[in-house]
Amino acid sequence: MAGDGCLLVMVIDVHPQIAEHEINVQNYFNACISFANIHLAASVKNTLAVIAANHLETRFLYPQTADEKVDHQKDGRLELLGQVDEDIEKELRSMIMHYSKAAQTESLLSGALGRALLYIKRQEVENILGKKIHARILVIKISIDTGSQYLNYINTYLTAQKISTPIDVCVIGSDCGLLQQGADISGGYYHCVPEVSELLQSLILMYQADVVTRKKLNVPPPDTVDYRAACFCHRTLVDMGNVCSNCLSVYCKAVPLCTTCNVIFQTDRPLMKIVKKKK
Ligand SMILES: [Zn+2]
Ligand SMILES: [Zn+2]
Repeated sequence: MAGDGCLLVMVIDVHPQIAEHEINVQNYFNACISFANIHLAASVKNTLAVIAANHLETRFLYPQTADEKVDHQKDGRLELLGQVDEDIEKELRSMIMHYSKAAQTESLLSGALGRALLYIKRQEVENILGKKIHARILVIKISIDTGSQYLNYINTYLTAQKISTPIDVCVIGSDCGLLQQGADISGGYYHCVPEVSELLQSLILMYQADVVTRKKLNVPPPDTVDYRAACFCHRTLVDMGNVCSNCLSVYCKAVPLCTTCNVIFQTDRPLMKIVKKKK
């Protein structure tokens, strides 16, 4: 696997929430960019794509659409890596600065995941040798989340599973049940780091190796996965709910009508007692 190189698609959360602490922003960007560099430097055949998401948009940061020519060597670094640093950091900063005063809603990570999967698929279709490429996705998430993108997430997870693309997830701060499900479904790795300062260390230790090599490493055992579903009425994760018998939509309380498939539930009908006939 290592001989063929690997396409790493990084999905980076740049919610304005992180701009509250400047030191965190710098550490966060440095960790993401350093990890991108490590991946490219590990093998000449490795390739990279970076997609960022905030609460308003998702943006392709690398590779840029316009074919920019790589500048001459500046400070002894590899030209490619210098270009990667420049492209990514400039765009990340612009995404965080523009909307720093916006209302704090959730980052559009599920959309970015969809774009990542499409990018991988396109690379595969455009591959001249028609070979299946080894690709994986790494989501780095920092902001809080709700269940509002539940269905979009589940759809991307099932797609990733179908095209055998693992989704690795590294969350900073508090756990994220929805992304944990994604890592579990697609065969990726999920980890939560408490502080931004520990991000790079965790990325290098746990996410640098490809999926095959990872099995030989002594990584911390995975946590139990939070498999709660989000209800279709309030988009909150529920422990117990009502399920539509027609389309399997989940509701946190009894409703007269399924809003997804318009089936009417006859909840007022008294429950029939099934009496076994004696012979
Ligand atoms: Zn509900
Ligand atoms: Zn239904």
